[in-house]
Amino acid sequence: MLNHRQTKHIIIIGGGITGLSAAYRLFELGSEQNLLLDVTLIEARDRLGGVIHTIKQDGFLIDSGPDNFITAKPWALALTRRLGLESELLTTNASYRRAMVVRRGKLLPIPEGFLLMAPTRFVPMIATPLFSLPGKLRMAMDIFIPARKTNNDESLASFVTRRFGREALDRAVQPLISGIYTADPANLSLRATMPRFLDLESKYGSVIKGMRMEGKRQKAKGSGARYGMFVTFRHGLQTLIHSLKDRLNHVCFRLNTHVVRVEKRATDSAASSWRVELKDGTSIEADGVIITGPSKHAARLLTGVDEKLAEQLSTVQYASSAVIHLAYRREQVAHPMDAFGCVVPITERRNIIAASFSSVKYEGRAPAGHVLLRAFMGGALYPEMLQRNDEELIAAARRDLDDLLGITTPPLFALVHRWPDSMAQYHVGHLDRVAAIRKQLSRHKGLELGGNGFEGVGVPDCVRAGERAAEELLAGLDG
Ligand SMILES: Cc1cc2nc3c(=O)[nH]c(=O)nc-3n(C[C@H](O)[C@H](O)[C@H](O)COP(=O)(O)OP(=O)(O)OC[C@H]3O[C@@H](n4cnc5c(N)ncnc54)[C@H](O)[C@@H]3O)c2cc1C
Repeated sequence: MLNHRQTKHIIIIGGGITGLSAAYRLFELGSEQNLLLDVTLIEARDRLGGVIHTIKQDGFLIDSGPDNFITAKPWALALTRRLGLESELLTTNASYRRAMVVRRGKLLPIPEGFLLMAPTRFVPMIATPLFSLPGKLRMAMDIFIPARKTNNDESLASFVTRRFGREALDRAVQPLISGIYTADPANLSLRATMPRFLDLESKYGSVIKGMRMEGKRQKAKGSGARYGMFVTFRHGLQTLIHSLKDRLNHVCFRLNTHVVRVEKRATDSAASSWRVELKDGTSIEADGVIITGPSKHAARLLTGVDEKLAEQLSTVQYASSAVIHLAYRREQVAHPMDAFGCVVPITERRNIIAASFSSVKYEGRAPAGHVLLRAFMGGALYPEMLQRNDEELIAAARRDLDDLLGITTPPLFALVHRWPDSMAQYHVGHLDRVAAIRKQLSRHKGLELGGNGFEGVGVPDCVRAGERAAEELLAGLDG
């Protein structure tokens, strides 16, 4: 058993949602088990939250990175409840739970019942001008195409083309998936990102059949994503970060502090076994270290500890993106804005990957009579966009939005936020890579990793990753 009377010093590197979730779980377990834990959280920036950052400007409420999370993955919601924040949650506006897609320069609704990859409803599919008749017939072939026999990982593009045809991929699935993962579906592992579709194929022999069977049970409504399952906080996602910080008053937070290296010390059993070196030349010793954030950063920190582990970590690719917020008076936008936003296929050759109508999706994002738009740029498909300066990015986003939404006058203001190397790309073979990383990591007692590079990229996944890192670290120290 962990010696309850001997204080254990634990260092968490990274103050994003993963690091804070790890710290909170340590606090919970420490209280439950009456452990003496001394926790230091080190963050390079001057604020906590990582890519979660809420700004208020001229009455607008702007989440500059992520702006909501899904409740179908329960970990962020469960944390929200444990923090007593449930009354602060907002669900999406029930009136406009649908998305649009650009087709030949115009916005078309994604047909009712088309959920990320597959159609589930007959009449809207017949009626939609989004797909050609041969394209629709090809999609329906999914019902007759036998399930694949092999168990190898497959790219999302390959799966969709195999079951639904190229048109479904190009006109709907590619933009919907790129809007979520900022990724190229030709590289994205289906098993690591959307295993449900593989399960439907193997269980029902057809994705459409499977979704219809399960949809009957779940009464899925809308199109694009399952919008009823997305929530945010009345005052932005940073509510979660502030609440965690307030609860963690026993944690020593060191902001503006950059870790450059982690070292394992050969020690006698009484001494700490890890040393964390900081950019200012000083170092801190600890019994355990949790490294969070992008795994490529962890790779750099760990080269001296385990070259193989560092090499494995560096194989998880990351994409950079920019989020451009534009504020308008309602009358400046001619489009009815009767949806949550739009996604843009690569074949349309536009600048933006997707746009959200933030103030339609959630209340309180813009003052009365105003709208807030949010455009995504960059990602794995357009990495060169990030070379442009802020003025160029705003101009490029405006060209697309002006054209698509009938805007003829400049925004009240526009803000650019860049998120370099922040979105993990789960390429084909990702689950095997993660299994190899976990195996190699298990050789290092007192070292844990968390973040979006492993078992999921969303906020709920990162909450779970942080909590799991905390649990495994304590179990390891105990062992
Ligand atoms: C633009 C964007 C939009 C997104 N939208 C959504 C969404 O709507 N919903 C959703 O569920 N998910 C979304 N995601 C994904 C999700 O937000 C992230 O995967 C998650 O927040 C990552 O959290 P993290 O703590 O692992 O990493 P980060 O937030 O990146 O935090 C890591 C922290 O570690 C610090 N750090 C790194 N290296 C060091 C070092 N050497 N020394 C000290 N500190 C260091 C960094 O400064 C950073 O603060 C989005 C991601 C991005 C980039």
